[in-house]
Amino acid sequence: MLRPPSREKWSSDFPRWFDWVIEAAEVYDYGRYPVKGMGVWMPYGFQIRRRVLEVVRGLLDSTGHEEVLFPLLIPEHLLRRESEHIRGFEGEVYWVTHGGREELDVKLALRPTSETSITYMETFWIKSYRQLPKKYYQVVSIFRYETKATRPMIRLREVTTFKEAHTVHESFEDAERQVLEAIEVYKAIFDRLLIPYVISKRPEWDKFAGALYTIAFDTIMPDGRALQIGTVHHLGQSFTRAFDFRIQMRDERLDHPWQTSYGVSDRVVASLIAVHGDDRGLVLPPSVAPIQVVVIPITPGDEEKRGKVLTYTARAAEALEKAGLRVLVDDREWERPGAKFYYWEAKGVPIRVEIGLREAEQETLTIARRDTLEKTEVPLGEAGDRIRELMAQIESSMRERAKSFFCERLLRTESLEEARDWVEGRRGIAEIPWCGREGCGLEMEERVNGKVLGTPWPEEPMEEGKRCPLCGRPAVAWIRLAKTY
Ligand code: ZN
Repeated sequence: MLRPPSREKWSSDFPRWFDWVIEAAEVYDYGRYPVKGMGVWMPYGFQIRRRVLEVVRGLLDSTGHEEVLFPLLIPEHLLRRESEHIRGFEGEVYWVTHGGREELDVKLALRPTSETSITYMETFWIKSYRQLPKKYYQVVSIFRYETKATRPMIRLREVTTFKEAHTVHESFEDAERQVLEAIEVYKAIFDRLLIPYVISKRPEWDKFAGALYTIAFDTIMPDGRALQIGTVHHLGQSFTRAFDFRIQMRDERLDHPWQTSYGVSDRVVASLIAVHGDDRGLVLPPSVAPIQVVVIPITPGDEEKRGKVLTYTARAAEALEKAGLRVLVDDREWERPGAKFYYWEAKGVPIRVEIGLREAEQETLTIARRDTLEKTEVPLGEAGDRIRELMAQIESSMRERAKSFFCERLLRTESLEEARDWVEGRRGIAEIPWCGREGCGLEMEERVNGKVLGTPWPEEPMEEGKRCPLCGRPAVAWIRLAKTY
């Protein structure tokens, strides 16, 4: 009986597994570039990133978002305009102070995020409610001088894949409707990537600097820690007021419009890698795999038979390409088939096709799926359809596997001790009843030695009789706690 690949190292020593896999699969070179907190996307990783971004762009474009590109540098006076905002980011901003040998009159920030620069330009572009709603987005690098320990793709000083969307609305309600749309877009992105998540309203003390409220997506890493993978902010009028940005409203008066912003980052790719991997390496969902099928000829020593296998391999690869699959033939002569198997397994290619003399003579293909390593043999004529079916099966079993891992790591309990054991033991996210007061929330963080993620979104009515385990007052919501990255 064939056993699926082990996930022991993946779960028991996740940070080390992650460092190993991004190197073994040639995704991301981290730690060798001579600036701390900055890594290099290698060709294979760049292709994965590009496929993920295609999903993101596709969903944004189809919901009326327009892509823009703003300068990297933000002058100090713009960044300082909204006071909460600068208070939230001040300690993390990189400043450009010199141009050549001259000191600059105005310090320039490397953007930590773009609410200020985008709002500033919107004051010139948007004059009337008739132009609204307006939805912009860009995919750019942002810079944050992180003081916590940096980690490849997860906590960086240059986040290279920051997709930030910024929208403008004529009313609070319309901005709120946009928050819902953004959440739907993000759900669709993570669902396509088979990444499970919970959606929480972040507590007041942990919302985005300058926002009315923040809704966040968190997934769970193999080591039981939560990873924030997307956030959506209702900005209210804080930035439009700070920039004295007024437009003509429906009732003719001039007033400040309302805004939202929402972002995802390199962490989407990081979670794609983390959630699906195993001890052999990456396991990529076929929809975003740069190579869906790798074809490996297993050539006999005999010259004539070898020619036969190679001719048939070329024919098979062409047929699979014609069927619309992304195919690569690994015909490197200096590498043994076994080594090739390991190499492409580490890279997470969903389907491996093996072609030896038997396959060439019988006009069949031996197909192995990456997620379970199961093998089947199919006639060449049916191969395109069969691989397509198999890829659909792979997607659905990957989704199930990720979901069951995730669900086993959610605990709802009324006991603070149980929550503490769960969180401290890195078993996942715990939910306990909460009175809604900040003091109790912060004390819970200390007691369970974790972080508050917030309360479930959409809001759930709280059951009768539940009490905050700290102060004994009636609970208003479940509150989520976890170790986080
Ligand atoms: Zn309380």
